[in-house]
Amino acid sequence: MFPTENTAKGRVTATAASPFSEEDLVMAHPHSSHNVEEVQRGPSAGCFHCLKIFASSEVAEWLADGTVLCPYCDIDSVLGSLSGYPLTMDFLLAMKKHWFRKISLQQGE
Ligand SMILES: [Zn+2]
Repeated sequence: MFPTENTAKGRVTATAASPFSEEDLVMAHPHSSHNVEEVQRGPSAGCFHCLKIFASSEVAEWLADGTVLCPYCDIDSVLGSLSGYPLTMDFLLAMKKHWFRKISLQQGE
């Protein structure tokens, strides 16, 4: 017997309105800095610049201050699974929209 009701309730569906508060997005951002230990201790990590979700063992580069660089785009926008924030496409996209929107506008998007 499938727990259909539970599954439906637990699933966060992407809607026009972001399911994440601005506070969440602001609070999560420090976890993308000085985070090499946090990232490596967790099983997986996600990048809110290129939106990849990958195994933390793929992380091979970080800055002298311990800030992890994404193995796919070399941007310091990696969150570890121990950050306490969901490493889902929805969350990474919300982070990207919040933190990279101004940069994208400057590039003429
Ligand atoms: Zn990336």
